[in-house]
Amino acid sequence: MRWGLIGASTIAAEHMIGAIRASGGEIATVLSSSPDRAVSYAAKHDIPKGVTDLDAAMDGVDAVYISTTNEKHLPQAMAAIAAGKHVLCEKPLAMSVADAVTMVKAAQAANVTFGTNHHLRNAGSHLAIRELIATGRIGTVLSVRVFHAVHLPPHLQGWRIDNPDAGGGVIPDITVHDADTVRFHLGEDPVDVVAMKTASGMGQGVEDSAMSIWSMPSGAMVHTHESFTHRFAGSGIEVHGTEGSIIARGVMTQAPVGDVTLRFEGGEQAVEYATHGLYDRAVDLFSKACAGEGRPAADGVDGVKSLAVAAAVAKAAETGTRTAVDYGGV
Ligand code: NDP
Repeated sequence: MRWGLIGASTIAAEHMIGAIRASGGEIATVLSSSPDRAVSYAAKHDIPKGVTDLDAAMDGVDAVYISTTNEKHLPQAMAAIAAGKHVLCEKPLAMSVADAVTMVKAAQAANVTFGTNHHLRNAGSHLAIRELIATGRIGTVLSVRVFHAVHLPPHLQGWRIDNPDAGGGVIPDITVHDADTVRFHLGEDPVDVVAMKTASGMGQGVEDSAMSIWSMPSGAMVHTHESFTHRFAGSGIEVHGTEGSIIARGVMTQAPVGDVTLRFEGGEQAVEYATHGLYDRAVDLFSKACAGEGRPAADGVDGVKSLAVAAAVAKAAETGTRTAVDYGGV
Protein backbone atom coordinates (compact mmCIF):
# COMPACT_ATOMS: atom_id res chain seq x y z
CA MET A 1 0.00 0.00 0.00
CA ARG A 2 1.27 3.48 -0.86
CA TRP A 3 0.90 6.08 1.86
CA GLY A 4 1.02 9.85 2.08
CA LEU A 5 1.89 11.41 5.42
CA ILE A 6 -0.25 14.46 6.09
CA GLY A 7 1.80 16.27 8.70
CA ALA A 8 5.56 16.24 9.40
CA SER A 9 4.91 15.29 12.99
CA THR A 10 6.72 13.79 15.95
CA ILE A 11 4.33 10.85 16.25
CA ALA A 12 4.99 9.92 12.62
CA ALA A 13 8.75 10.18 13.15
CA GLU A 14 8.79 8.28 16.44
CA HIS A 15 6.25 5.54 15.71
CA MET A 16 4.18 5.58 12.54
CA ILE A 17 6.80 5.69 9.79
CA GLY A 18 8.36 2.56 11.26
CA ALA A 19 4.98 0.88 11.71
CA ILE A 20 3.89 1.63 8.13
CA ARG A 21 7.15 0.27 6.74
CA ALA A 22 6.99 -2.78 9.01
CA SER A 23 3.56 -3.56 7.55
CA GLY A 24 5.04 -3.61 4.04
CA GLY A 25 3.66 -0.16 3.24
CA GLU A 26 5.57 2.36 1.18
CA ILE A 27 5.62 6.04 2.17
CA ALA A 28 5.53 8.09 -1.02
CA THR A 29 5.04 11.65 0.24
CA VAL A 30 4.98 13.88 3.29
CA LEU A 31 3.07 17.16 3.59
CA SER A 32 4.28 20.07 5.72
CA SER A 33 3.08 23.67 5.87
CA SER A 34 6.71 24.74 5.57
CA PRO A 35 8.66 24.12 2.33
CA ASP A 36 11.96 23.75 4.18
CA ARG A 37 10.51 21.35 6.71
CA ALA A 38 8.81 19.30 3.97
CA VAL A 39 12.17 18.77 2.30
CA SER A 40 14.22 18.21 5.44
CA TYR A 41 11.67 15.82 6.99
CA ALA A 42 11.44 13.85 3.73
CA ALA A 43 15.22 13.59 3.51
CA LYS A 44 15.62 12.61 7.16
CA HIS A 45 13.05 9.84 6.88
CA ASP A 46 13.91 8.63 3.39
CA ILE A 47 10.59 9.71 1.88
CA PRO A 48 10.80 10.44 -1.89
CA LYS A 49 8.71 13.64 -1.89
CA GLY A 50 8.23 16.43 0.67
CA VAL A 51 5.50 18.86 -0.43
CA THR A 52 3.35 21.74 0.83
CA ASP A 53 0.36 21.10 -1.41
CA LEU A 54 -2.25 18.65 -0.19
CA ASP A 55 -3.18 17.42 -3.68
CA ALA A 56 0.48 16.73 -4.40
CA ALA A 57 0.77 14.85 -1.10
CA MET A 58 -2.10 12.60 -2.14
CA ASP A 59 -0.92 12.03 -5.70
CA GLY A 60 -0.57 8.30 -6.39
CA VAL A 61 -1.21 7.13 -2.84
CA ASP A 62 -3.83 4.67 -1.58
CA ALA A 63 -4.07 5.97 1.97
CA VAL A 64 -3.16 8.98 4.07
CA TYR A 65 -2.07 9.14 7.69
CA ILE A 66 -3.15 12.49 9.19
CA SER A 67 -1.07 13.64 12.15
CA THR A 68 -1.18 17.41 11.96
CA THR A 69 -2.42 19.50 14.88
CA ASN A 70 -6.05 18.82 15.64
CA GLU A 71 -7.71 21.80 13.95
CA LYS A 72 -6.36 20.64 10.58
CA HIS A 73 -7.74 17.10 10.71
CA LEU A 74 -11.22 18.00 9.40
CA PRO A 75 -10.28 19.84 6.18
CA GLN A 76 -7.45 17.42 5.40
CA ALA A 77 -9.58 14.32 6.00
CA MET A 78 -12.44 15.71 3.92
CA ALA A 79 -10.07 16.43 1.03
CA ALA A 80 -8.57 12.95 1.25
CA ILE A 81 -12.00 11.30 1.35
CA ALA A 82 -13.12 13.38 -1.65
CA ALA A 83 -10.01 12.13 -3.48
CA GLY A 84 -10.99 8.53 -2.70
CA LYS A 85 -8.14 7.85 -0.24
CA HIS A 86 -8.37 5.63 2.81
CA VAL A 87 -7.80 7.70 5.97
CA LEU A 88 -6.03 6.83 9.19
CA CYS A 89 -6.49 9.92 11.34
CA GLU A 90 -4.98 10.89 14.65
CA LYS A 91 -7.06 11.48 17.72
CA PRO A 92 -8.89 13.60 18.58
CA LEU A 93 -10.51 13.33 15.16
CA ALA A 94 -11.56 16.97 15.15
CA MET A 95 -12.23 20.04 17.29
CA SER A 96 -15.91 19.11 17.74
CA VAL A 97 -18.05 16.00 17.74
CA ALA A 98 -20.12 17.42 14.86
CA ASP A 99 -16.98 17.80 12.71
CA ALA A 100 -15.86 14.27 13.54
CA VAL A 101 -19.29 12.92 12.56
CA THR A 102 -19.04 14.83 9.26
CA MET A 103 -15.70 13.15 8.51
CA VAL A 104 -16.87 9.66 9.40
CA LYS A 105 -20.12 9.95 7.44
CA ALA A 106 -18.25 11.28 4.41
CA ALA A 107 -15.89 8.28 4.54
CA GLN A 108 -18.85 5.90 4.75
CA ALA A 109 -20.56 7.59 1.78
CA ALA A 110 -17.33 7.46 -0.26
CA ASN A 111 -16.77 3.81 0.71
CA VAL A 112 -13.22 4.41 1.93
CA THR A 113 -11.74 2.91 5.09
CA PHE A 114 -11.49 5.32 8.03
CA GLY A 115 -9.48 4.52 11.15
CA THR A 116 -8.70 6.43 14.35
CA ASN A 117 -5.21 5.97 15.72
CA HIS A 118 -6.04 4.95 19.29
CA HIS A 119 -2.95 2.92 20.12
CA LEU A 120 -3.82 1.57 23.58
CA ARG A 121 -6.46 -0.92 22.44
CA ASN A 122 -3.70 -2.51 20.33
CA ALA A 123 -1.47 -3.25 23.33
CA GLY A 124 -1.07 -6.90 24.33
CA SER A 125 -1.68 -5.81 27.94
CA HIS A 126 -5.03 -4.22 27.09
CA LEU A 127 -6.04 -7.13 24.85
CA ALA A 128 -5.36 -9.45 27.79
CA ILE A 129 -7.34 -7.24 30.19
CA ARG A 130 -10.27 -7.16 27.80
CA GLU A 131 -10.17 -10.93 27.45
CA LEU A 132 -10.24 -11.38 31.25
CA ILE A 133 -13.31 -9.13 31.49
CA ALA A 134 -15.09 -10.66 28.49
CA THR A 135 -14.59 -14.21 29.75
CA GLY A 136 -16.06 -13.37 33.16
CA ARG A 137 -12.86 -13.77 35.18
CA ILE A 138 -13.72 -10.81 37.41
CA GLY A 139 -17.50 -11.28 37.37
CA THR A 140 -19.67 -8.22 36.93
CA VAL A 141 -17.66 -5.03 36.55
CA LEU A 142 -18.32 -2.58 39.36
CA SER A 143 -15.82 0.15 38.61
CA VAL A 144 -12.77 1.23 36.63
CA ARG A 145 -9.99 3.56 37.71
CA VAL A 146 -7.64 5.01 35.11
CA PHE A 147 -4.37 6.63 36.18
CA HIS A 148 -2.99 8.56 33.24
CA ALA A 149 -1.17 11.45 34.86
CA VAL A 150 2.21 11.69 33.19
CA HIS A 151 4.93 14.26 32.62
CA LEU A 152 4.74 15.68 29.11
CA PRO A 153 8.30 15.65 27.74
CA PRO A 154 9.69 19.06 26.66
CA HIS A 155 9.73 18.20 22.93
CA LEU A 156 5.94 17.61 23.03
CA GLN A 157 5.00 20.63 25.12
CA GLY A 158 4.49 23.19 22.25
CA TRP A 159 0.87 23.63 21.12
CA ARG A 160 -0.42 21.07 23.64
CA ILE A 161 0.17 23.40 26.58
CA ASP A 162 -0.68 26.84 25.17
CA ASN A 163 -2.83 26.68 22.05
CA PRO A 164 -6.52 25.91 22.46
CA ASP A 165 -7.11 26.70 18.76
CA ALA A 166 -4.83 23.80 17.76
CA GLY A 167 -6.57 21.47 20.20
CA GLY A 168 -4.20 21.90 23.16
CA GLY A 169 -5.01 20.72 26.68
CA VAL A 170 -4.89 17.39 28.44
CA ILE A 171 -8.55 16.57 27.81
CA PRO A 172 -8.28 16.46 24.00
CA ASP A 173 -4.86 14.88 24.31
CA ILE A 174 -5.22 12.13 26.91
CA THR A 175 -8.85 11.91 28.08
CA VAL A 176 -9.80 10.81 24.54
CA HIS A 177 -7.42 7.85 24.83
CA ASP A 178 -8.87 6.90 28.21
CA ALA A 179 -12.38 7.11 26.80
CA ASP A 180 -11.43 4.76 23.99
CA THR A 181 -9.69 2.35 26.34
CA VAL A 182 -12.60 2.14 28.78
CA ARG A 183 -15.11 1.70 25.93
CA PHE A 184 -12.86 -1.06 24.55
CA HIS A 185 -12.71 -2.90 27.87
CA LEU A 186 -16.33 -2.58 28.93
CA GLY A 187 -18.00 -2.74 25.51
CA GLU A 188 -20.34 0.11 26.43
CA ASP A 189 -20.42 3.88 26.14
CA PRO A 190 -20.41 6.36 29.04
CA VAL A 191 -23.81 7.97 29.68
CA ASP A 192 -22.86 11.11 31.59
CA VAL A 193 -19.91 12.63 33.43
CA VAL A 194 -18.83 15.02 36.15
CA ALA A 195 -15.39 16.59 36.02
CA MET A 196 -12.91 19.17 37.24
CA LYS A 197 -9.81 20.52 35.53
CA THR A 198 -6.93 22.79 36.41
CA ALA A 199 -3.62 24.19 35.20
CA SER A 200 -0.99 22.87 37.58
CA GLY A 201 2.21 24.39 36.26
CA MET A 202 2.38 23.67 32.54
CA GLY A 203 -0.89 24.72 30.90
CA GLN A 204 -1.15 28.33 29.69
CA GLY A 205 -4.73 29.03 28.67
CA VAL A 206 -5.51 25.31 28.58
CA GLU A 207 -5.92 22.71 31.31
CA ASP A 208 -2.98 20.43 32.04
CA SER A 209 -4.84 18.20 34.52
CA ALA A 210 -8.34 16.73 34.73
CA MET A 211 -10.27 14.29 36.85
CA SER A 212 -13.64 12.91 35.91
CA ILE A 213 -16.24 10.33 36.87
CA TRP A 214 -18.39 8.64 34.26
CA SER A 215 -21.53 6.54 34.64
CA MET A 216 -21.91 3.51 32.37
CA PRO A 217 -25.16 1.94 31.15
CA SER A 218 -24.41 -1.22 33.18
CA GLY A 219 -24.19 0.85 36.37
CA ALA A 220 -20.39 0.61 36.57
CA MET A 221 -18.58 3.77 37.65
CA VAL A 222 -15.39 5.02 35.99
CA HIS A 223 -12.85 7.39 37.49
CA THR A 224 -10.07 8.88 35.36
CA HIS A 225 -7.13 11.18 36.04
CA GLU A 226 -5.13 12.75 33.24
CA SER A 227 -2.25 15.20 33.58
CA PHE A 228 0.85 16.58 31.87
CA THR A 229 2.57 17.58 35.13
CA HIS A 230 3.05 14.41 37.19
CA ARG A 231 6.66 13.28 37.11
CA PHE A 232 6.46 10.31 39.42
CA ALA A 233 2.87 9.04 39.40
CA GLY A 234 3.19 6.16 36.94
CA SER A 235 0.24 5.09 34.82
CA GLY A 236 -2.26 2.28 35.18
CA ILE A 237 -5.77 0.96 35.01
CA GLU A 238 -7.74 -1.06 37.54
CA VAL A 239 -10.94 -2.91 36.72
CA HIS A 240 -12.84 -4.13 39.76
CA GLY A 241 -15.51 -6.81 39.55
CA THR A 242 -17.66 -8.93 41.83
CA GLU A 243 -15.30 -11.93 41.50
CA GLY A 244 -11.93 -10.28 41.09
CA SER A 245 -9.88 -7.24 40.21
CA ILE A 246 -7.44 -6.53 37.40
CA ILE A 247 -4.56 -4.33 38.49
CA ALA A 248 -2.42 -3.09 35.59
CA ARG A 249 0.56 -0.79 36.10
CA GLY A 250 2.62 1.05 33.51
CA VAL A 251 0.28 0.12 30.66
CA MET A 252 -1.09 3.54 29.61
CA THR A 253 1.85 4.12 27.32
CA GLN A 254 3.12 3.76 23.76
CA ALA A 255 5.36 0.74 24.37
CA PRO A 256 4.37 -2.89 25.01
CA VAL A 257 5.30 -2.73 28.69
CA GLY A 258 3.79 -2.87 32.18
CA ASP A 259 2.45 -5.47 34.60
CA VAL A 260 -1.02 -6.98 34.66
CA THR A 261 -2.19 -8.84 37.76
CA LEU A 262 -5.45 -10.71 38.32
CA ARG A 263 -6.52 -10.66 41.97
CA PHE A 264 -9.27 -13.02 43.17
CA GLU A 265 -10.50 -14.84 46.27
CA GLY A 266 -7.51 -16.58 47.74
CA GLY A 267 -4.74 -15.17 45.64
CA GLU A 268 -3.41 -13.35 42.66
CA GLN A 269 -1.62 -14.23 39.44
CA ALA A 270 0.53 -12.39 36.94
CA VAL A 271 -1.13 -12.19 33.51
CA GLU A 272 1.03 -12.93 30.46
CA TYR A 273 0.46 -10.87 27.33
CA ALA A 274 1.80 -10.42 23.79
CA THR A 275 4.47 -7.76 23.30
CA HIS A 276 3.99 -6.70 19.67
CA GLY A 277 4.28 -2.97 18.81
CA LEU A 278 1.04 -1.09 19.45
CA TYR A 279 1.31 1.04 16.31
CA ASP A 280 2.41 -1.98 14.25
CA ARG A 281 -0.86 -3.73 15.05
CA ALA A 282 -2.88 -0.59 14.36
CA VAL A 283 -1.32 -0.18 10.91
CA ASP A 284 -1.63 -3.89 10.10
CA LEU A 285 -5.34 -3.97 10.90
CA PHE A 286 -5.97 -0.71 9.05
CA SER A 287 -4.10 -1.96 5.95
CA LYS A 288 -6.06 -5.21 5.97
CA ALA A 289 -9.32 -3.28 6.29
CA CYS A 290 -8.34 -1.19 3.25
CA ALA A 291 -7.89 -4.48 1.37
CA GLY A 292 -11.41 -5.53 2.40
CA GLU A 293 -10.38 -7.80 5.26
CA GLY A 294 -11.72 -7.04 8.77
CA ARG A 295 -11.89 -3.59 10.33
CA PRO A 296 -9.42 -1.09 11.75
CA ALA A 297 -8.56 -1.57 15.45
CA ALA A 298 -10.45 1.68 16.11
CA ASP A 299 -12.72 2.92 13.35
CA GLY A 300 -14.30 6.30 12.74
CA VAL A 301 -17.24 5.69 15.07
CA ASP A 302 -14.77 4.80 17.84
CA GLY A 303 -13.03 8.12 17.16
CA VAL A 304 -16.30 10.04 17.33
CA LYS A 305 -17.23 8.36 20.60
CA SER A 306 -13.90 8.94 22.33
CA LEU A 307 -14.08 12.59 21.33
CA ALA A 308 -17.69 12.82 22.55
CA VAL A 309 -16.66 11.59 26.01
CA ALA A 310 -13.75 14.05 26.12
CA ALA A 311 -16.03 16.88 24.99
CA ALA A 312 -18.48 16.02 27.77
CA VAL A 313 -15.63 15.99 30.31
CA ALA A 314 -14.49 19.42 29.08
CA LYS A 315 -18.02 20.81 29.29
CA ALA A 316 -18.66 19.30 32.72
CA ALA A 317 -15.39 20.77 34.01
CA GLU A 318 -16.23 24.16 32.53
CA THR A 319 -19.79 24.34 33.82
CA GLY A 320 -19.53 22.32 37.02
CA THR A 321 -22.57 20.31 36.00
CA ARG A 322 -23.23 16.63 35.37
CA THR A 323 -23.15 16.42 31.57
CA ALA A 324 -24.69 13.86 29.24
CA VAL A 325 -22.37 12.53 26.53
CA ASP A 326 -23.67 13.59 23.12
CA TYR A 327 -22.47 11.06 20.53
CA GLY A 328 -23.68 13.16 17.60
CA GLY A 329 -26.09 10.53 16.41
CA VAL A 330 -23.54 7.81 15.55
P1 NDP B 1 3.83 17.68 16.53
O1 NDP B 1 3.82 19.00 17.21
O2 NDP B 1 5.10 16.93 16.46
O3 NDP B 1 3.32 17.83 15.03
C1 NDP B 1 2.17 18.57 14.70
C2 NDP B 1 2.54 19.58 13.61
O4 NDP B 1 3.47 20.49 14.15
C3 NDP B 1 3.23 18.91 12.45
O5 NDP B 1 2.27 18.51 11.48
C4 NDP B 1 4.19 20.00 11.96
O6 NDP B 1 3.54 20.85 11.02
C5 NDP B 1 4.48 20.83 13.19
N1 NDP B 1 5.80 20.49 13.72
C6 NDP B 1 6.20 19.36 14.30
N2 NDP B 1 7.48 19.41 14.68
C7 NDP B 1 7.91 20.64 14.33
C8 NDP B 1 9.15 21.31 14.42
N3 NDP B 1 10.23 20.75 14.98
N4 NDP B 1 9.23 22.56 13.92
C9 NDP B 1 8.16 23.16 13.36
N5 NDP B 1 6.96 22.56 13.22
C10 NDP B 1 6.84 21.32 13.71
O7 NDP B 1 2.66 16.85 17.16
P2 NDP B 1 2.53 15.32 17.57
O8 NDP B 1 3.21 14.42 16.64
O9 NDP B 1 2.86 15.20 18.97
O10 NDP B 1 0.92 15.17 17.40
C11 NDP B 1 0.31 15.23 16.12
C12 NDP B 1 -1.07 14.61 16.18
O11 NDP B 1 -0.95 13.26 16.58
C13 NDP B 1 -2.05 15.26 17.15
O12 NDP B 1 -3.35 15.15 16.63
C14 NDP B 1 -1.93 14.39 18.39
O13 NDP B 1 -3.10 14.41 19.18
C15 NDP B 1 -1.70 13.03 17.77
N6 NDP B 1 -0.91 12.10 18.61
C16 NDP B 1 -1.35 10.84 18.78
C17 NDP B 1 -0.66 9.92 19.50
C18 NDP B 1 -1.15 8.51 19.59
O14 NDP B 1 -0.54 7.70 20.26
N7 NDP B 1 -2.23 8.15 18.92
C19 NDP B 1 0.60 10.29 20.18
C20 NDP B 1 1.03 11.63 19.88
C21 NDP B 1 0.30 12.49 19.12
P3 NDP B 1 3.78 20.62 9.47
O15 NDP B 1 3.20 19.27 9.18
O16 NDP B 1 3.00 21.73 8.85
O17 NDP B 1 5.26 20.68 9.25
